[in-house]
Amino acid sequence: MKSYIPSSAELAEKKSRVKYITQNLEAAYGVPINDDPCDPLDELILTILSQSTTDINSRRAFESLKRRFPDWESARRARPSSIAAAIKSGGLANAKSLVIKNALNEIKARRGALDLSFLQTAPIEEARSFLTSLAGIGPKTAACVLLFACDRKIFPMDTHILRITKRAGLVPEKFSDEQAHQLMEKLIPPKKHYSLHVNLIRHGRQICRPQNPKCDKCPLIEHCDYGQSQL
Ligand code: SF4
Repeated sequence: MKSYIPSSAELAEKKSRVKYITQNLEAAYGVPINDDPCDPLDELILTILSQSTTDINSRRAFESLKRRFPDWESARRARPSSIAAAIKSGGLANAKSLVIKNALNEIKARRGALDLSFLQTAPIEEARSFLTSLAGIGPKTAACVLLFACDRKIFPMDTHILRITKRAGLVPEKFSDEQAHQLMEKLIPPKKHYSLHVNLIRHGRQICRPQNPKCDKCPLIEHCDYGQSQL
């Protein structure tokens, strides 16, 4: 696909729309505050468990894993089959157990301890590269850990977010998750990464649903290309 590089005028126009969208979502849903962040290693394991399942199932699998292995060192020493048994309620247990065990081994080998708190202050690209260098950890998982547990200025994409930003005309239709992620990170107002991420997901679940978006009730319609086409 031909690469798309927005002009500075286009970037400025999209930035102003994202600012408007952020403000209107905050007016509709409130200002989400990340006031009780998880430990970064807990967040990494939780995010691995969340792949291809619901929040309820992944939380249940995480709690079961913590009950079976009260510290991450004991999970690191366990057989993958023991980890898989503990997380079976979250689905894809065999594959996820291998990713978890490998991540724990790699972190211990490279950092000397099962501790990812350095991600809170490391240069952002270094933090992102460390996480994505772990087998099975992609850019979205890395971004979730850095936003939710480390309060870094980073914007994980999500199926709801990708759909809304494409409908709004912020992200070109053919963009992949990764291309959309790179573009959106240029557009977010300072310190609004968490708020916009959480509120776009709420909006995608309640109003801008995959089928039959409720454009007639949407507070973003004035700055949404699809919504404008429905007026
Ligand atoms: S106007 Fe419609 S398409 Fe646009 S964000 Fe709102 S619900 Fe989604």
